[in-house]
Amino acid sequence: MKKTVIVLFTLILVAAGIGLPLWLAIEESARQAFKAESTHALGYARDVVLRVDETGRQVQVAVRRLEAQAAPPCSPASIDLMRDIDLASTYIQAVGYVEGSRMLCSSIAGPERILELGPPSYTSSGGALVRSDVRFPFAPQHSYVVLQFGRYAAILHGRLLIDTAKGEADVSLAAISVDYSAPLSARGYVDPTWVARLGNAREAVFSEDGHIVAVVRSTGFQAAGIAAVPLRYLEARSHDFAMRLVPAGLLAGIVLSLAILFLARHQMALPAAVKAALRRKEFFLEYQPVVDLRTGKWMGVEALVRWRRPTGEIVMPDMFIPIAEQHELIVQLTEQVLTGVCHDAGSYLQSHPDFHVGINVSPADFHTPNFMHKLQLKLEAMQARPGNLILEVTERGLLDPVVARETTGSLRRHGFAVAIDDFGTGYSSLSYLESLELDYLKIDRSFIEAIGTGAPTSQVVGHIIGMAKDLGLCMIAEGVESQAQAEFLRKRGVQYAQGWLFGRSMAFSDIVRRIEEMEQEAGAVQVAG
Ligand code: C2E
Ligand code: MG
Ligand code: MG
Repeated sequence: MKKTVIVLFTLILVAAGIGLPLWLAIEESARQAFKAESTHALGYARDVVLRVDETGRQVQVAVRRLEAQAAPPCSPASIDLMRDIDLASTYIQAVGYVEGSRMLCSSIAGPERILELGPPSYTSSGGALVRSDVRFPFAPQHSYVVLQFGRYAAILHGRLLIDTAKGEADVSLAAISVDYSAPLSARGYVDPTWVARLGNAREAVFSEDGHIVAVVRSTGFQAAGIAAVPLRYLEARSHDFAMRLVPAGLLAGIVLSLAILFLARHQMALPAAVKAALRRKEFFLEYQPVVDLRTGKWMGVEALVRWRRPTGEIVMPDMFIPIAEQHELIVQLTEQVLTGVCHDAGSYLQSHPDFHVGINVSPADFHTPNFMHKLQLKLEAMQARPGNLILEVTERGLLDPVVARETTGSLRRHGFAVAIDDFGTGYSSLSYLESLELDYLKIDRSFIEAIGTGAPTSQVVGHIIGMAKDLGLCMIAEGVESQAQAEFLRKRGVQYAQGWLFGRSMAFSDIVRRIEEMEQEAGAVQVAG
């Protein structure tokens, strides 16, 4: 990637790195504030409903007692009972006997004083005649609700139903009839049609007309409680949350941006570091055994490059091979790998002509005019045969058909073995592969992993094996980790495998030691047999 592109990309990432956590913090503040204010409003609406329910229950009990009495209405015994009920009730102010629109006698005024009630506001679906906002001459400043069942009625103080949220005068409250959307009692701005927002639900919270509105339906009566909290409360609470969350978001943004900057610097510094590492010869090789699945014998190894940084940190190839490829350092790296193989395995190859060392090569290596010559020089230095080396090239490395055909052909003519690496991850067709001169096909680890999992890719390995057989190629399965995978592959005719089941990558001296130990064990078994 070009430096300016990296700088531009980094700047965008840094802006997003700060902006995103900040935006998230503000969004989260608003969300939490809405949640908190919804709970706030719901609490008041539930409180109103509790009062409505308790009042309704007390009125029903009172009327039942009055209707059950033997004494005639407005007789001294009946008025005594009314006063008893009155005293025992916490929500009812008075009870009385009604004819037409007049309360003929009551617990407060006895039989002497008739109270004019006026016409009912509406009749509830439960059969109650409801009068809201009734005023009496003895207390004209107070508004009362009168609930009448049959001939008896209860006088309720309108305020009592909504006697909550006293400390927050601008919270609007209402006890409301669901049938008629008419308020029994209300304080502040309440739109009676808000009740319709309940639908079939028991509770609803929404924001409307500058308020967060909570509506809660009564379970016993056709009534609901409403509480409306001004949006101003939400803004204040959102501000409170923001005061706590925004600094955290900002901090997270700064940390994220620093991390991005660090990585970008690291990324920009990497090519220079790889270059320096080549100069300082910081790369070394480990070797992973390649096993013959039929005999279990180690028939060869794959050389895998590692980078030991001056700090002692070991860096894996996925981190630096792409950098080396992008910055034209890969040819130099391959040269050091060849030198490393020569140094580590040279003498072993002289005495073991059938042993193979797999070397990963990149497309750029193929385009180097003297690549073949360099390879031959290394072989001469090792006094090894070209067949000792398997050159591994990925499908990606064989994209250019002309170069691919030329190079693989030339390598084969010089006696080197050629493997197509990570097979299945590219797009090579059967006909394209047929046109190349290849010896081995390395089945990519992702397909081995899928064996027996039922994943869609688990079928692919069978097709790859079929393809390799059609082309007459030897197969090496990569990343074999379980006995079941090894068995599956062996049964289907895959000749070789590498993977953690057999051994991880190690120093070449360890490879030799392990081979000798295995030979000794095999010898001991033969002698014993
Ligand atoms: P690759 O050529 O496909 O090498 C096999 C990779 O799979 C190695 O990773 C190896 O350690 C890993 N592996 C082997 N068996 C198992 C297993 O059972 N399970 C799992 N999970 N992984 C397993 P490594 O050493 O990190 O190398 C990664 C890639 O880097 C190699 O893939 C190769 O493409 C590239 N590479 C390594 N050395 C060189 C080199 O000298 N030159 C070039 N050009 N590329 C190299
Ligand atoms: Mg490889
Ligand atoms: Mg591979």
